Amino acid sequence: MFKKILIANRGEIACRVAATARRMGIQTVAVYSDADAGAKHVQACDEALHIGGSAPKESYLRWERILQAAQETGAQAVHPGYGFLSENEDFAKACAAAGLVFIGPPASAILAMGLKAESKRLMEQAGVPLVPGYHGANQAPALLQAEADRIGYPALIKASAGGGGKGMRVVEKSEDFAAALASCKREAINSFGSDAVLIEKYVQRPRHIEIQVFGDTHGNCVYLFERDCSVQRRHQKVLEEAPAPGMTETLRAQMGAAAVAAAKAVNYVGAGTVEFIVEQTAYDQPESMRFFFMEMNTRLQVEHPVTEAITGLDLVEWQLRVASGEPLPLRQDQLRIQGHAIEARICAENPDNNFLPATGTLQVYRKPQASSFERSTVRIDDGVREGDTISPFYDSMVAKLIVHGDTREQALARLDTALAQTHIVGLNTNVQFLRHVVRSDAFAMAKLDTALIQRESAVLFKQDPVGLQAAAAAVIADALRLEAAAQGADPFSRRDGWQSHGTTRRRFELEYDGQPVRAVLTYGPQRLLQVGEGAEAALQLTPQGDGLWVQFNGARIHSTVHAQGETCHVFTPQGATRIGLLDPLAHAGEAAQEAGRLTAPMPGKVVSFAVKAGDKVKAGQPLAVMEAMKMEHTISAPKDGVVAELLYAPGDQVADGAELLKLAV
Ligand code: ADP
Ligand code: ADP
Ligand code: MG
Repeated sequence: MFKKILIANRGEIACRVAATARRMGIQTVAVYSDADAGAKHVQACDEALHIGGSAPKESYLRWERILQAAQETGAQAVHPGYGFLSENEDFAKACAAAGLVFIGPPASAILAMGLKAESKRLMEQAGVPLVPGYHGANQAPALLQAEADRIGYPALIKASAGGGGKGMRVVEKSEDFAAALASCKREAINSFGSDAVLIEKYVQRPRHIEIQVFGDTHGNCVYLFERDCSVQRRHQKVLEEAPAPGMTETLRAQMGAAAVAAAKAVNYVGAGTVEFIVEQTAYDQPESMRFFFMEMNTRLQVEHPVTEAITGLDLVEWQLRVASGEPLPLRQDQLRIQGHAIEARICAENPDNNFLPATGTLQVYRKPQASSFERSTVRIDDGVREGDTISPFYDSMVAKLIVHGDTREQALARLDTALAQTHIVGLNTNVQFLRHVVRSDAFAMAKLDTALIQRESAVLFKQDPVGLQAAAAAVIADALRLEAAAQGADPFSRRDGWQSHGTTRRRFELEYDGQPVRAVLTYGPQRLLQVGEGAEAALQLTPQGDGLWVQFNGARIHSTVHAQGETCHVFTPQGATRIGLLDPLAHAGEAAQEAGRLTAPMPGKVVSFAVKAGDKVKAGQPLAVMEAMKMEHTISAPKDGVVAELLYAPGDQVADGAELLKLAV
């Protein structure tokens, strides 16, 4: 076994590889770019070398520099992770030339599977079923059009060198073909440096089911069952699970055998994935499922943890053993499926805006509790920590959440809970969207196909399961708690300090879904809250953990509030939402200007007046000082004018909204 390896990657996969290496007593070397100087993967390794600028081209794709780093540090092998150099046959060759083991398949296998069209020709020879289509070398547009017409519509044009869901166009009818071809070729040449395409029948009700394969240098090859990755957006995976719902033993054995045949056809060694597109005439008719080879990914896949969860194996350990020349640890007949696993890819993106990637700082990043069982039920693979930045240079994936259960139902419930416990503030993510998918009837009932997200869009987007009333109650309760904490008081047994006589009312200005909402809290024998046009009801709060139990309007909800300026992020088991709690101080001038009066922006004590009746004042000039929550706040003149009358004296307690002085303008 190796003593030291270099990990030519970053983020979660670099951390993932480092974890297994550490467990196996193998030293690790990290490489990093400028942007990643303080990254988690750098700390996860024993040594780290800076290899260049933030753009991948200047660092993670600079393979001469990476090989040099390996030699400088005495690493014996290089793990490429996924993406970057993982499917680059030149890099695999260069490793060998430099006397390093490339932890992956032989360069010849990468090359053979690298181009979709060529690999299809090979697979055809190996007897692996293919989607009806054209994958010839002749790229004349007229011929391509004729082939598409022969195959029939809808047809799919694919960049032969494509990957990552890019370079694909669905064509609905013959008239649209020419334009789609031109646009596909443009994208292909820009993204992959080649505009060769292939054409396939666009499979109906397609499911993406892939088989994990593993080969060794002793001629063995096994399959570690399937993963269903049908839930996709923009042809990219969102949720992955194993086993595939509805899979029969017969179909699994057939697909497994086809995948092993595909791998053997290219003398495959190491971890690989054979992706199939599966046609089904109906969702609940497994016997109608027909599978076709799509492509082979000659690397470890993002979603490998679901296979690890159902087999109880560590695929990175297998990769390391195979790369160091050991035979596969298990034979096909020793492999078993246990339970069900689902992975959710948590990405920095905006699902409500066509999944546009987002960037920003993870101001709050709270993860669900990973379980400590031997076969863990909740696993989080990530490459970031709270405070880290998701930069525009790399992938938008923040973390992978993997759950395991005895049944799919149990795994689903665990995933829902784990997503509820994932609190991210500071950038847009798909966490809530993922919960909507997980909770949708279509996913729960495993009515899977790659169009699930589009089909169910009515229930997946712009949903707020929390709602205004609960969100308002949560932020107001949290504000009361914070104020009380600042005053060093116990907020839950006594009334708030500023309240003087009898019933006091306090207003809160909220913003929900872009609309201003007013809430009024009335202090009597109990706190009564009215939000917008809603009914007035008692508000009770009990702190627990870093959250609060909030009882309001007949519901008792545990909520955690993280404020980011005036935007409050409310997390509850039902879901998360945002609500603005406007700082009265920040808006005091505006409010006063509107009303033509000068009011107390918050409840507190009048400390002093800087002016007296009859004084001429200029806009912005300090007029009075108030104190609340152990802080002083200065109230300034919104406009030029003359002080007409002071309505309080220093030392007076005032409620918020109380008029402090009259200003004639
Ligand atoms: P999977 O491993 O599940 O098939 P993807 O196909 O999305 O996942 O690819 C895995 C990772 O590899 C992506 O996150 C991306 O960083 C990278 N990747 C794959 N193909 C490409 C490509 N053609 N261009 C850029 N990055 C790619
Ligand atoms: P990539 O290299 O970008 O991963 P793939 O060939 O694996 O490209 O296809 C990506 C996704 O596109 C698949 O997971 C599937 O959802 C869809 N897809 C690919 N081929 C077909 C097809 N012939 N019919 C329907 N959908 C397809
Ligand atoms: Mg693919």
